[in-house]
Formats: sequence, structure tokens, C-alpha cells
Amino acid sequence: MERIRCVDVVVVGAGFAGLYMLHRLRCLGLTVQAYEAGDDVGGVWYWNRYPGARCDVESMQYSYSFDEDLQQEWRWTERYASQPELLAYAGHVADRFDLRRDIKFATRVRSARFLETKALWEMVTAAGDVLHARFCIMATGCLSSARIPRLPGMERFRGRSFHTGGWPHEPVSFEGERVGVIGTGSSGIQAIPLIAREAANLFVFQRTPNFSVPAQNWPMPEEYERSWKRDYPALRRRAREASTSGSLTDPGQHKVHDIPPQEREQLFEARWKKGGVYFLHAFTDLLLDEASNKEAADFVRRKIRSIVKDAAVADLLTPTDHAIGAKRICVDTDYYDTFNRPNVTLVDLRSDPIEEVTVTGLRTTRKEYALDAIVYATGYDAMTGALLNMEIIGRGGLTLQDKWQDGPRSYLGMMVAGFPNLFTITGPGSPSVLSNMIFSIEQHVEWIGDCLGYLEQNRLSTIEAEAAAEEEWVEHVNAVADRTLYPKAASWYTGANVPGKPRVFMPYVGGVVAYRRKCDKVAAAGYSGFTLARAEVAETSMA
Ligand code: FAD
Ligand code: NAP
Repeated sequence: MERIRCVDVVVVGAGFAGLYMLHRLRCLGLTVQAYEAGDDVGGVWYWNRYPGARCDVESMQYSYSFDEDLQQEWRWTERYASQPELLAYAGHVADRFDLRRDIKFATRVRSARFLETKALWEMVTAAGDVLHARFCIMATGCLSSARIPRLPGMERFRGRSFHTGGWPHEPVSFEGERVGVIGTGSSGIQAIPLIAREAANLFVFQRTPNFSVPAQNWPMPEEYERSWKRDYPALRRRAREASTSGSLTDPGQHKVHDIPPQEREQLFEARWKKGGVYFLHAFTDLLLDEASNKEAADFVRRKIRSIVKDAAVADLLTPTDHAIGAKRICVDTDYYDTFNRPNVTLVDLRSDPIEEVTVTGLRTTRKEYALDAIVYATGYDAMTGALLNMEIIGRGGLTLQDKWQDGPRSYLGMMVAGFPNLFTITGPGSPSVLSNMIFSIEQHVEWIGDCLGYLEQNRLSTIEAEAAAEEEWVEHVNAVADRTLYPKAASWYTGANVPGKPRVFMPYVGGVVAYRRKCDKVAAAGYSGFTLARAEVAETSMA
């Protein structure tokens, strides 16, 4: 019988998390096998090739900080990098650190089972290949499990259908076509202005309007780039030590109502002109106080009305059902202005829901729309989807599906009681999607790397979250969230976008500084809240 190959660590996913994890593990002298479902590295930026896809955290900050040479040599051409540039960057990192040789591409992991008697994880791929590893690190992404709603009749549509998160690699032209976009979250809001420029007619099918602020994207000013590169380590340190999100956002110092109305307006205006997520950092209490939040929301509502010429369309585009920022704020280029174009029609699905997809388009209660293409910008089964798509089985046959049937539970968002030696990078219960994700990825990768180094040094072979520590952390995550406006919105942060998904606020809202402090304290105390043990059986080079 063929012997099953065994490595120290298996990493699932080769986005920014998987790439850096692989590099870090190699530096520790460990043997690693990474698996990636896509044909190449890049994760989100490999899959999301839709028109307009770009980051909304500034490129100078949405990039790795772990290697000074890397951050000095790479040149971003725009304030917010576009998807092709982000993908090229991921490719550059893979080449620079020679990472591809340990990644098996086009390989989806189907299951991961902890073999208790051997203290090994058994990984099985969709093709049936089996691998054993002492440690399993899930770098599977918070927004990698695309969600396409099941609309009646979808399979009979004769035109082309796309999901933003699974865009073809070859160029897609909508020239002269009738196109329908379903969904007006960040992805739809980025794609709509560009599709509108190409298509003969664009129909935007909107169920819920979102708040969007202009990116104010621009070609990278040389002096701006130089100012960052001159001082990169210090600026990164400042983001680490003095920001809530892992980005320097020039946070305001006042509560909204500490400032007279006229000054307040000026401040919002300045932030609007500055562009991007900076808007939400104008004051200290925007996500804490409903009255303060309303001031910011009203400012954006007025902006929408001032940009969109048709008052009825402006009304439909104006969000009224949630606090600004409580759902992920969208960042756009020309989104609202796009609705002034004669070839763009907004269809309000609240008053006129989709009944079915037909052979030639979409039919709502009131009307039939003939379409050549449908773009589903319908989002993700966020934070838990990619993990629960696999069968992950821990101690005593416990599946992650069962463990998380009432919502995700995890210690520090990194480990789950009952699942020894299994780590989740940017897992639920960590700042993850409420932060600059590359920043949070680096923090997790380094913490996990240090943890494995510690185990090796101390000749320990398993680490497992204790149930009591996990319970306490989950309670803390909920308590902190409940002090904010976040859980009140029906967002993907709470699982509300997926029918039947338990409603739990998943990310940790306490800020990256407090979070890092907690993680560091846990490590300094010899990994308090974790059980560390020496197993009798160990087959790999680390033992
Ligand atoms: P991903 O990039 O999602 O990579 C995970 C990889 O795991 C994927 O390639 C996937 O194929 C693979 N995988 C999953 N399951 C399996 C399996 N079972 N077997 C094998 N492989 C598997 N964050 C920000 O901070 N700023 C931004 O501006 C920003 N913009 C975004 C724009 C879009 C369109 C999206 C969708 C997300 C954005 N994000 C942004 C969030 C984004 O998720 C992170 O910034 C970051 O790219 C995540 O990296 P990752 O490696 O953790 O996950
Ligand atoms: P999303 O925010 O979840 O938006 C999905 C959209 O699809 C919503 O408008 C939703 O409407 C709609 N929708 C879903 N199912 C529908 C149905 N059955 N019928 C009609 N409409 C339906 O997803 P996303 O836009 O892909 O963004 C997800 C996250 O990825 C973002 O929040 C952000 O974190 C990240 N992202 C970032 C950027 C960036 O700017 N850098 C770009 C893209 C994505 P309802 O609200 O009514 O459910």
C-alpha cells in the first residue's frame, strides 16, 4: 500500500494569508504543503476580475509590511490598486519568495479530519489525494465562498451569467448589450459605472440601497509614495499601535455633537473630498451613537440627492434601513452619477421583486427585462462559508458544522475547542473584515508562526483551545459588539445575507490594538486558555 505523505503543516488557500503563512513556516524550517482551489496565487484578487475591482484601503497600506525590501521595491500606480495590479503583486511575492513550488493549484480540499491516535490532520482533496500533517492552517478567506441566489428558472437563461467573485479570465465585453446587474453592495457599486459605459442598456436590480462614498482614486503622486517609503517601518508601527483598523485614517478627535453644526458639515465635506473609508473616521462616535450616526448618514443622503438628477431615483438609492457603516460602507467611482445616464435604469426589487429568470432575461412582478447578460453581484457566505464548505472533523468525530450550528465559536478567532492544531487565519471572532485585512493577516500569521516555534522548542505536539477560554472570548466578542450599532444592521457581518444562517455578529469590533494586546498576552503567558501537550505519536520532522 502506498504510504501517505506527511508534512509538518498544511496550509489551505494561497491568497495573501496563505502566501505569507507558507513563507513564515519555511523560515521556521518546517515542511509545508499548501493547497489552492484556483490555478494561481492571489485569492480574492485571482477570482474577482470584474470591471472596477480594486481595493478600498490605500495601496500603500493594503500591502505586506513584513519585508522592508519588498515594500520598498514594489510600486503602486494608483492610490487604490486595481485588481490586475493586486494580482501582479501577489504573483511578485510568490516569485520573490519562491512560494509556488509548495502550492498545489487547482486542488480543492474536501475534508480535514483529526486522527486522534496519531495527532495528525488527514486532508483529502476533491480528487481523492490524501495528506497527513501535524498542523492544519486554514487560510481560506472571509469572502471566498460566492453566493448566487437560487432564482426560479436560472438554468434556462440563454445569455451569459457571471458572479463577480468568479469572473472569467478572458476579457468580457458588454459592448452594445443589454445587461442586468443584481446586487448593489461593494462589488456591484464598483462594477456598475464601468458596465454602464459599455452596455447599450444597463438594468440595476436593487433590493437594498447601500451607503457609498467616493474613492477619490488618483494616480499615485510620487511625493506621496516617497513619504510612505521614507518612513515605512515607523508608519506601519503607528498603524499597529494607534489605529482601530490597522490603517492610518487620520481619525477625528471629537464626538459629532461636540462640534457646532456648521463645523460638522465642513468636516464631513472635507472627508468626502478626501475620499474612501476616511469618512467613517471623521468623528469618534459614528458607530456608537445613533444620533451621531444619523448626522453622517444624512450628509450622505443629501449628497445622493444632489448628484442624482431624478428625484424618484435618488429616493430609491437612498438608504434608510441601517446606520451608515453598520454594513460595510461602499467606496465608489461615479456610482451615483451613473444613474444620470440615459442607458441606466434602476429597478426597485422591494416594490417589484424578481419572479423568475426567463430564457431571454428577468421577469419581475411588473415587467419583463430582455437581457444578454446577467451579473450576480450577490456577495458571499462570509467568514464561515469557506470553512463549512469542507468537512472538518475534530476530536470524537465532532464536525465543525455541528460545533457551529448556532453560529461560529472560537478562541481569539484562531482556534476552536475540540479541533487541536487547527488554526483559522482571520477567523470569526477576530478583527478580520473590520480591519485592513493584510494587516490582520500578518498579525495572525506571525502569532501562529511564533506559536508553532514555541511548540517545537518545548517539544510539544498539540495545542488546543480550552472550552472555557473559548466561551469567555465569544462572550467578550458579543459584549463589545453590543455596545456598537453594528449588530443592528442586517448585514453579512451577522450572516443575515444567507437564508437560514445563524444570526451572530462574527468579527471582533474591539479594535486591532486591544486584540493584538490580548493575543500577545496569551502567548506571553505560555498560551493561556490553550491546552498544550506532548503526544506519544509523531511522525514528522518536528517531533
Ligand atoms: P482569500 O484571498 O479569499 O484567499 C483564500 C483562498 O483560499 C482562495 O484563493 C480560495 O480559492 C482558497 N480556498 C478556499 N477554500 C479552499 C479549499 N477548500 N481548498 C483549496 N483552496 C481553498 N479587504 C481589505 O482590507 N481591503 C480591501 O480593499 C478589500 N477589498 C476586497 C475586494 C473584494 C472584491 C473582496 C471580495 C474582498 C476584499 N477585501 C478587502 C477582503 C479580502 O478578503 C482580504 O483583503 C484578503 O484578500 C483576504 O486574503 P485571504 O488570503 O485571507 O483570503
Ligand atoms: P454584498 O455586500 O453582500 O452585496 C450583495 C448584494 O446583492 C446586496 O445588494 C444584496 O441585497 C444583493 N442580493 C443578494 N441576494 C439577492 C437576491 N436574491 N435578490 C436581489 N438582490 C440580492 O456583497 P459584495 O458586494 O460582493 O461585497 C461583499 C464584501 O466584499 C464587501 O462588503 C467588502 O467587504 C468586500 N468588497 C470590497 C470591495 C472594495 O471596495 N474593495 C469590493 C467588493 C467587495 P440585500 O442587501 O438586499 O441583501
